[in-house]
Amino acid sequence: MYFGKIRKFLEIAIDDYVLNLSHVLFKETDEYQTLKNAATRSALTSSIRWLWLVGVSCSSFILIQRQVLNLEHFQPSSDLFGVSIDYTVGLFLGFLIACALASRFSWPHQMLAKLHIKTLAFGFFLLGCYWAMILTMIEGNEQILFGMSLFLMLIFSSLAGLYVSTLCLYSFIVPITVLPLLIKYLFFEPFQFFVMMGVVMTLFLVETGRRMLKHWFIQAIRQEYTNQTYAAALDQIAHSDPLTQIPNRRQFDDRINKLIALAPLANTPPTVILIDVDYFKKYNDRYGHLVGDECLIRVAQALTHAVRNASGDLVARYGGEEFVVVLSDVTLGVAQDVAVRIQNEINRLAIPHADSDIADHVTISQGIAQWEKDESVESLLTRADKALYLSKEQGRNRFNLAEPAP
Ligand code: GH3
Ligand code: MG
Ligand code: MG
Repeated sequence: MYFGKIRKFLEIAIDDYVLNLSHVLFKETDEYQTLKNAATRSALTSSIRWLWLVGVSCSSFILIQRQVLNLEHFQPSSDLFGVSIDYTVGLFLGFLIACALASRFSWPHQMLAKLHIKTLAFGFFLLGCYWAMILTMIEGNEQILFGMSLFLMLIFSSLAGLYVSTLCLYSFIVPITVLPLLIKYLFFEPFQFFVMMGVVMTLFLVETGRRMLKHWFIQAIRQEYTNQTYAAALDQIAHSDPLTQIPNRRQFDDRINKLIALAPLANTPPTVILIDVDYFKKYNDRYGHLVGDECLIRVAQALTHAVRNASGDLVARYGGEEFVVVLSDVTLGVAQDVAVRIQNEINRLAIPHADSDIADHVTISQGIAQWEKDESVESLLTRADKALYLSKEQGRNRFNLAEPAP
């Protein structure tokens, strides 16, 4: 309990007063967590290249130092536990190079990205144990300064590569720090205060550095998440009608152009149905504009309900009291079935319209046109509009098929 309190106190003291990291309130939604996990995993897997480079550099450093620069002190047989440093490091370096050659320097990112963070951390723990063994052997060879510089190299380069995951970072750092010291003080030497102090200072710098880097990493993810949320909200506003909440004219334009572009791959070309509420001016005049709005909302819902929920289909508000339906991959016969369904759905709503000349409730008229090869969207809509006009002329509350394109 006391440990927890002390930890909290230290965290606040370091974050707020030493590093001056601002803690802004941020609502961590499930989507944010997903984005954060994906970013952490991606950062970890891409830092594997860097850790490979660290491995190659440190191994070469050891081999060059021992084989080339330090010939007089070269003691192949005096290594700790009878294992030769040079052979072990040489083998490890060979293994790293073989891995790079086998994967042709393109790392198995996809495979690594699927691994659980704990599995990755276990891998880093094993790597940490390996380096701990090498450090112990070097120090056992009385090369204290060399061991210390290698220790610092490993510690700070792992900080740069693994700061995104506390678990992975410390899985690597703890064995490197603890094992050589344990072996040294348990088996070989009396406790040395200054060595211990150096290690504690190093760990303090690693932890503060990790907090700072992680803070900026999290800030970047939050910014990315906020941008994505705003972009999605703007997209929603730009593509939907504020009154009826169904797709607007812009989304209709996008959809019909896309379907026309894909028409060569479809069995049948796209079809549009233009829909206009009958005597809507009279409705507004009688019941008022607000009730008129309410009526349009109900009509929009009924239309959406009447059209199947297929991926290419769309019901949009075309403007005013006009709507448009896009049907993908249906024959004209099926399109007429949809028009009948729409007609029935609106009649079933039975929204009272005392001033209509043709019924006692709100009705609609429709015009159906199927896209013909090389036809423009304008021409398609003009034909649908003419068919709609014909329905109006013939007495409304009905639909007509468009004439073929000229
Ligand atoms: P027709 O049967 O020939 O289609 O006659 P109409 O009265 O429906 O057609 P007209 O084009 O003369 O009138 C359309 C009316 O729709 C006029 C306009 O005030 C009304 N309107 C357009 N947009 C809205 C809206 O968002 N809310 C409301 N309440 N009315 C709207
Ligand atoms: Mg109209
Ligand atoms: Mg009308």
